[in-house]
Amino acid sequence: MAIVTGELGPRVRWAFSDRDGGMSGAPYESSNLADHVGDEPEHVKANRAALAAAVGVEVAHVVSMAPVHGNDVGHVLGISAEPVPRVDALVTTVTGSALLVVAADCVPVLLGDSEAGVIAVVHAGWRGVLSDVVGTTIAAMVDLGAEPRRTRAVVGPAICGQCYDVPRDRFDLVVAEAPAAVAVASEGRPGLDLRAAVVERLRGLGVASSLHAGCTSESANLYSFRRDGLTGRHGGVITLLPVTVLS
Ligand SMILES: [Zn+2]
Repeated sequence: MAIVTGELGPRVRWAFSDRDGGMSGAPYESSNLADHVGDEPEHVKANRAALAAAVGVEVAHVVSMAPVHGNDVGHVLGISAEPVPRVDALVTTVTGSALLVVAADCVPVLLGDSEAGVIAVVHAGWRGVLSDVVGTTIAAMVDLGAEPRRTRAVVGPAICGQCYDVPRDRFDLVVAEAPAAVAVASEGRPGLDLRAAVVERLRGLGVASSLHAGCTSESANLYSFRRDGLTGRHGGVITLLPVTVLS
């Protein structure tokens, strides 16, 4: 698995995987992180363990979610083996836990305010952009003591606006809420740039972000549901380290 790691301040570590180097066989080859697509559970667990290890966390401490393309945020109060149901974002202040977001064209976002000790993950497709799942997640972080101007984000790989052509009515609906999503897809069809919409929403809230990786549809080493149909999911984890007492 090609895993890229980074930090969002001294207490927050993150990692993103692609689809290479894991345990899963076709059509999930090979680093599928999703437990809802029909892959072998043991392979998914091994792939998740490799990603979790990159941020120094045991796979048993990884909390996942079962997104429904809504804008509800799950508040993680402790370690749980079961995915948090019916949410598209997770937020926590629990040190030593890791939050997981998986995707294959939708936008995965990792967020952290290291000073406040608050981390979050977001899964945003076009419905999530429309319902402002990014805004509801930042609000949930603020409720736990985070400050937007201290919060930093990594926005992971997603389908780009040139590849993501959509029906005109969906285009109109989304760009009315998120003008930054406007894109022109192949043959001049209406397109949506969901990453641009997410980055612009974060910027509007005062949250600085950086982009990780590129277009899922164009990258053979990333999963794309639109390109492949039945396939796996890549993803990211974020973890909060304990406060260390400096001597
Ligand atoms: Zn593309």
